[in-house]
Amino acid sequence: MSTLKAVRGTRDLLPPETALWNRIEATARSVFARYNFGEIRTPIFEDTGLFARGVGEETDIVSKEMYTWEDRARAQSEKTQSLTLRPENTAGVVRAYIEHKLGETGQLQKLYYIGPQFRRERPQKGRYRQFSQIGAEVIGPPSAGSESPLRDAEVLEMLATLLDELGITGWTLHINSVGSAADRARYNEALRAVLVSVAPRMCIDCQRRAVTNPLRVLDCKVAEDQPIIDTLPRIADSLDEDSKTHFAAVIAALDAAGVPYSRNSRLVRGLDYYTRTTFEFTHGGLGAQNALLGGGRYDGLSEAIGGPKAPGIGFAMGEDRLVLTLQALEAATPEKVDAFIAPLGESMNPAALALARELRRAGLTVELGEGSFRLKKSFEAADKTARRIVILGEDELQSGILTVKDFATGTQTKVPRGELAAVLTK
Ligand code: ATP
Ligand code: MG
Repeated sequence: MSTLKAVRGTRDLLPPETALWNRIEATARSVFARYNFGEIRTPIFEDTGLFARGVGEETDIVSKEMYTWEDRARAQSEKTQSLTLRPENTAGVVRAYIEHKLGETGQLQKLYYIGPQFRRERPQKGRYRQFSQIGAEVIGPPSAGSESPLRDAEVLEMLATLLDELGITGWTLHINSVGSAADRARYNEALRAVLVSVAPRMCIDCQRRAVTNPLRVLDCKVAEDQPIIDTLPRIADSLDEDSKTHFAAVIAALDAAGVPYSRNSRLVRGLDYYTRTTFEFTHGGLGAQNALLGGGRYDGLSEAIGGPKAPGIGFAMGEDRLVLTLQALEAATPEKVDAFIAPLGESMNPAALALARELRRAGLTVELGEGSFRLKKSFEAADKTARRIVILGEDELQSGILTVKDFATGTQTKVPRGELAAVLTK
């Protein structure tokens, strides 16, 4: 029988790497809490129509990357329904906002999520078919100030703080405005007009986009197309006064807060529902998949999926890419535990468990050895996992004085049991 393996594009996350995942999530939760965001958890699968309408039929996600199936009815009362594993979480959050009438509170909703997303893409470093996103949305009725450029700037400032607290140095914030829905439509027409003559010299995807969704040509990553893209009209020239004023206010607030950014008039993002501010944070350490996160404003999304007017702004960070970036920055220094307890002989095992319990309850991270091991084997195991070894034999148990060896300094000391936790905490 052939052995079964994790499906292409999915992977198991194992210790010690999972510790890094947990640290990233804990830092994100702590930062989100300080900005008064609350957590939302939406289902992993939704009605396919949510993504068709909320992400956009013309996007790569909906046109070719979704895991969709016909879910057959189990009872007369049920209908066969087309379901999809969520490829992103914003549509689900906005659906929940509408379903639970959160707009009727009159308050801004500040919601964050952490969880798996699914896209049938070509797997490569930093690109998987199951991946995890950490994201947040600020959404509410216009009367709650949801359209204010201050919300955009606050979200961007929060992201800068989060990346700094994660220890991710060297990021770049790219920012642009794609204007209102009307601005976008006008720009799309301007692009379409120019693309008629140049698109035939571009890649096959761009030839299709030139007809279906010209804006997305700017997203093209094909090297040969870049010189052509550079000659295309700029969206900044299609913005109306309101959109220009809004963008200028976002920039002014970022300047006041001291958040560095780079204006990039080609940044349009893949999803159809974005309006006005769009942004991406990149990191040089990631190679081809260099986007750590992307986001922007989506003032028309709620209405596109049948809800009330509810402007919003949000982002999604690729957690897998945060992990890769941190691993590269931190260059594999394995975390060692505080102490390894080595019982001398099997008869010392119960006493060793009692000592480990004492230390663990005092907050220390302790690895418990095995009394049947020879002392040499215990030392080797301890050196791999712990910063110190504590030896527990009959003499130590009787006298209450333990022998502690510190691997970093090579020193060996005698420590009374009552002081052990304090010594190991240092
Ligand atoms: P990309 O240009 O890298 O395909 P995208 O525009 O499709 O990104 P979004 O849909 O905005 O990305 O998702 C936000 C973030 O989620 C990305 O910046 C990236 O960090 C992460 N991400 C997206 N797709 C994947 C994937 N298949 N595997 C891992 N991370 C991903
Ligand atoms: Mg993509």
